Amino acid sequence: MAEQDTVAVVTGANRGIGLEVVRRLATRGWTVVLGSRDVERGRRAAQGLDGVVVRPLDVADAASVAALADWLRAGHGGLDVLVNNAGIHYDTGQRAATADLAVAEEALQVNVLGAWRMVVACGPLLRPGARVVNLSSGAGSFGETAGGAGVPAYSVSKAALDMLTVKLAADLRPRGVLVNAVCPGWVATDMGGVGGRPLAEGAASVLYAVDLPPDGPTGTFTRDGAPVPW
Ligand code: NAP
Repeated sequence: MAEQDTVAVVTGANRGIGLEVVRRLATRGWTVVLGSRDVERGRRAAQGLDGVVVRPLDVADAASVAALADWLRAGHGGLDVLVNNAGIHYDTGQRAATADLAVAEEALQVNVLGAWRMVVACGPLLRPGARVVNLSSGAGSFGETAGGAGVPAYSVSKAALDMLTVKLAADLRPRGVLVNAVCPGWVATDMGGVGGRPLAEGAASVLYAVDLPPDGPTGTFTRDGAPVPW
């Protein structure tokens, strides 16, 4: 990708891994759109970062997503990188058999449909060679959680996001758009809590999929560039 005119959007980027990805991309001289439900929080997060544009974005709200797509179309005419980072409900207190399905519904709404909504709305803007990166989790991997019972809403939503990744990759392959899922590892954020690895390492796991060559793999699931079992 050319260094100039490269436009990247990161959802849920006012804190955590999303903000760290924004920080790293901003050093490249790209136009980096920091999507934030609360614009003021987004502005505070973006302070001191060159090339970062804060836009209101709630991925659970179709009108909000459409407004971002319209803004991109009018101002930039295209999109090179979409990082579907926004995520919620690491529901450690729940079990599948007794779960509060309102929590499950919200998790699906943001973690699955949010990413899907973004791609449907922004899909026409994705330029040849663009990359879509979906923030998944080992918690959604059948291979890594075999027999595990915890975080049911979160796990189901991330497993669905993985399937969405495969479907989108197949659809967008003819246009030269790469769609991949990544797990950032256990990262010390509001969601991850204390004890996780540093933000920089989680962000690096995401940037691997941002920086794939144009003829690179699509429809994959990786952590630190190494395959994660579906
Ligand atoms: P985090 O610190 O809790 O940050 C989550 C971000 O998502 C916040 O900016 C939040 O915005 C935003 N968000 C929530 N709902 C949204 C919506 N409807 N629309 C737009 N933005 C929304 O989480 P994180 O640890 O950085 O996680 C980032 C991604 O990595 C998530 O998809 C998560 O599942 C995944 N992940 C994290 C870990 C880990 O160990 N941390 C491990 C595996 C995968 P507000 O400030 O407005 O709430």
